Formats: sequence, C-alpha cells, structure tokens
Amino acid sequence: MNSNAYSPELLGLDGAKKYRWLVTGAAGFIGSHLVEALLQADQEVVGLDNFSTGFRHNIDDVLRRAESGGKKRFHLREGDIRDRTDCAGSCEGVDFVLHHAAQGSVPQSIADPLKAHDSNTTGFVNMLQAAAENGVRRFVYASSSAVYGDNPSLPAREERTGRPLSPYAATKIVNEIYADVWGRLYGLECIGLRYFNVFGPRQDPNGPYAAVIPRWIDALKRNEPVTIYGDGQTTRDFCHVKNVVRSNVLAALTERQDAVGKVYNIACGTVTTLNELFAILKGELALPENLTPLYEDFRKGDIKHSSASIDQARELLGYAPLVSLREGLKEMIQELPAEGKLSVRTLP
Ligand code: NAD
Repeated sequence: MNSNAYSPELLGLDGAKKYRWLVTGAAGFIGSHLVEALLQADQEVVGLDNFSTGFRHNIDDVLRRAESGGKKRFHLREGDIRDRTDCAGSCEGVDFVLHHAAQGSVPQSIADPLKAHDSNTTGFVNMLQAAAENGVRRFVYASSSAVYGDNPSLPAREERTGRPLSPYAATKIVNEIYADVWGRLYGLECIGLRYFNVFGPRQDPNGPYAAVIPRWIDALKRNEPVTIYGDGQTTRDFCHVKNVVRSNVLAALTERQDAVGKVYNIACGTVTTLNELFAILKGELALPENLTPLYEDFRKGDIKHSSASIDQARELLGYAPLVSLREGLKEMIQELPAEGKLSVRTLP
C-alpha cells in the first residue's frame, strides 16, 4: 500500500461495517479522493460523473492505489446529474450519498451562469429527490466558502453568510436552502460542508479556472512565472483534501441528531496570504530567494479575505484538521512524477 493511503484511523471508518456509498463527481479532484478512501476502507462505492471537468485517469489512479479488491467494489456510472434517470439509478440501494458533482469554478460561472445553474442547482435538486425516493440514510454535500460573499467578518462563522459575489456562490446558497427543505419536508437527513480552498494530489493545474496551488506548482515546474491576482495580501484558509475526506465520513456516520440538518465550515482555521504561500512553495521547492511572482489585477467574483471558524465542525462532528498546509504541500511535491521535479532554478 502506498505511503499516502487512507488508514482506517484517518477515516474513522470501521472496515467491518460495510455500506454502499454514492460519490457524485467521482472522477473529479475531491470525488476521486473520496472513492479512494472508501475503497481502502473496504466499502462498496458507486461513482457518478459526466467527465466534464473530471478525468478517467483519476479513477484509474484510484483503482491502482486501492489494491486488488477495489475494482470489484467500485461501480462507475457515466451519467449526468441533470438527468433524473441517472440520479435515480445511481441512488439504488445506496446508504450514503456524498454529492460533489458540480461546475466548481467561480470565473466559469460568471462566463456561463446558466451552465452553472443547470448542474449546481437543477442537478442538486435532482439528486436530493433521487436520494429521498431511494431511502438514502444521509445526504452529505459540498457547499463552499463562497456563500460568505461580501460579509467582511472574519473568521467566517456558519450563521453569518453574505451576498453572493458570483453565480457559483448563488448556487451553493440555494443548495443549502433546498437541503434544509428536503430535510424538513421529506425526511432526508442532509449535512452541508462548506469547503475552504481545498488542495492536494490530482487537482487539475490546467486551464483558466485552475486553483492556485496546482497552478503555481505546475508553473514553477515549467519555469514559467507565477501570477498573483491582486497585491498578494489576499488571504485564504487552505485545506488539504484528506481533511475534507475525513469530514465527509464524519458527517455521514455521526449518530448525533443535533449534527444533522446543518452546514459546517471545513478548513484548517489558519490564515495564509498568497505572498506567504508563494514563499512557502519557494522554500519547499528550494527555489532561489530572489524569485518573485507577477502581480495582476484582482479578478471579478474573488473574495479578498477568507478564513474559517471550525468550532462548529469540531463540536458537532468531532472534526479536526489532520494535515496542515505545509505538510500537504510537502506531500504534493514528493508525489510529483520524476519528470515533473524542478530542474532550473531561475525565471526570466
Ligand atoms: P472537480 O471539477 O474536480 O470535480 C467535479 C466533478 O463533477 C468532475 O469530475 C465533473 O466531471 C463532475 N461533474 C460536473 N458536472 C456534472 C454533471 N452535471 N453530472 C455529473 N458529473 C458532473 O471539482 P472539485 O474541486 O473536486 O469540487 C468538488 C465539489 O466541491 C464541487 O461541488 C465544488 O463546488 C466543491 N468545492 C470545491 C472546493 C475546492 O477548493 N476544490 C471548494 C469549495 C467547494
């Protein structure tokens, strides 16, 4: 088993208890980690994905890492959450849904708001309905720190959201409203997880909507300059994907009824500026001190400052971050394929 395996302790999942899990967005960054972790804990997993931003090689990687039995316990359905038949078929016999399929980019949602609405709102409601009709025990879903929008109070606390700054943020707020309604009216137990800047292996570094950490590592690998939008004082609460995986399992399995029907910040509870992130990466990659990023204008829809209170998740779910930003970056850098290791040490 590889060194980055999800141990039962990390997951908090007793392998003796077998459940059937549906992971939507299974070929994506976070979804593929959920699949990997569940297979390693001997669970049965259904994956649903339309491969719009996810990749088959993510799934291949997961099956390879999950050791021999993984293949038999994993059922991949190529389908779309905008299609009710796909949603209903995927939920058959499922105990827990971990809903992660979405169009996940803020700038892309500004460029094409109707597309974001179709997957993130209509698709979300399709999944709620399919889960309720199939008697799913619990529906855990990915919300986002984007719901804090223009609310300047920090650290962000669950009860104080703001006005959304993008169509993407609006869809995530609507998700939370719908989940609450399905809980109260149709008895579907729902828990929402508001992720703050998740990072880790298999995060796509390519394209105009890539997240900052994989994009920067990729640029540095290629000896290309790193671009910071704004003055670099923008803050983020970066959260390694293993923490996210753990929070999903905790949310699915908690027996505390007062934890159900709520939303939780999932982060590390620490604040890092983009300038600090650049300095940490420079150090971890042993790059020269005088290497500097390029600064460009702030992007529309981006929140300037973001940090989370994780008190509610600690108290009700027993969540605690297990992997820090620095540890997570180290792990990502160690995992770079040999040809991806940095060679040249200066940028033009
Ligand atoms: P991702 O793009 O890597 O994964 C999303 C997956 O959903 C992809 O595999 C994609 O092909 C699939 N998908 C998209 N639309 C679909 C549809 N209509 N039907 C079926 N499959 C569809 O993104 P991610 O970073 O893994 O994000 C997963 C979830 O977490 C999303 O809901 C996202 O909004 C949320 N989230 C992520 C972050 C982060 O930092 N990565 C932060 C906050 C919230």
